[in-house]
Amino acid sequence: MSGKQDLKDLSLNELEDFISTFGLKPYRAKQIFKWLFQKHAHSIDSMTDLSKDIRKELSKNCYVGHLTLKRMDQSKDNSKKFLFETSDNNGIESVLIPERNHWTLCISTQIGCPMKCKFCYTGEKGLLRNLSVSEILNQVGTVLKIGEFKEKLPNIVIMGMGEPLSNYDNTVKSIQTLLSQWGFNFSHRKVTVSTVGLVPQMNQLAKDLPVNLAISLNAPNNKIRNRIMPINKKFPVEELIITAKNYPISKRKRITFEYILIKDINDSDENAYELAEILKGFPCKINLIPFNEHHATIFKQPDEDRITKFRAILLKKKFTAPIRRSKGSDIAAACGQLGKSIG
Ligand code: SF4
Repeated sequence: MSGKQDLKDLSLNELEDFISTFGLKPYRAKQIFKWLFQKHAHSIDSMTDLSKDIRKELSKNCYVGHLTLKRMDQSKDNSKKFLFETSDNNGIESVLIPERNHWTLCISTQIGCPMKCKFCYTGEKGLLRNLSVSEILNQVGTVLKIGEFKEKLPNIVIMGMGEPLSNYDNTVKSIQTLLSQWGFNFSHRKVTVSTVGLVPQMNQLAKDLPVNLAISLNAPNNKIRNRIMPINKKFPVEELIITAKNYPISKRKRITFEYILIKDINDSDENAYELAEILKGFPCKINLIPFNEHHATIFKQPDEDRITKFRAILLKKKFTAPIRRSKGSDIAAACGQLGKSIG
């Protein structure tokens, strides 16, 4: 579609500006937004409350982007992994995770990832490219179009392939459309952005959007974090924790820290005490995620006894620390495994 504008790449304000060049009033942008994100229109021609002349004019200059759903794998635990193909023949994966009464959809923001966390398959090959706003949103739109998920999909986690805050502008613009009442109309309480801790972007996000924040911490000190997450050399643990503590969040919400437990790397009693110390007095949640083994790393998952002991220390220190077992590991859909089906 060279030279044409993908309508899904535009925010509502940008769409208003864009269509004003064709003499269309701002309320038309809301109409078009609804067609794009609530009625999942596949083409401008199907937007039947626009006159034929308007549709013809718009079709000359813009189009409705979509992703091709290449495959859906189903896990033994009922998780589903979607493989989408982009117009330049790249692959994007998203994962639908079953919770007790609803689904959570984990979406991607990049193809590959520049962060190169040592425990993660996605980061192994580095970054291929950022996803566009349309590509980020079409993961949600395509899954919602599959009728069975429509009613029970209140939660979106922006965590899949890539570091969302390193594709900052497109991630923020996508979230604005997720939250817009004319767009997907998700509640801001139901959208979570996960980050390895890009401090300047975290500070900016705090000003831009009222969404939940999850920080992929995975270590209680710089020595361990430097070893498994290269980004720590730029934004060390102390700076990250101070940024998290200053993050403006409503009293009813808490920041989540993700802590992937890796055998003999970050899972000792001493590590648990150190973690409790650096988060002391901070009303947060610590998700303990036993590492998902994969062929690209020598890291192993701790045994059950070690996981239980690590957690017991955090509970004794009065932290909320659930064990979150990644779902979908049999279809390479678990945390840190995305990208395997793409090759
Ligand atoms: S864990 Fe997340 S940020 Fe780190 S390399 Fe993997 S996808 Fe990127």
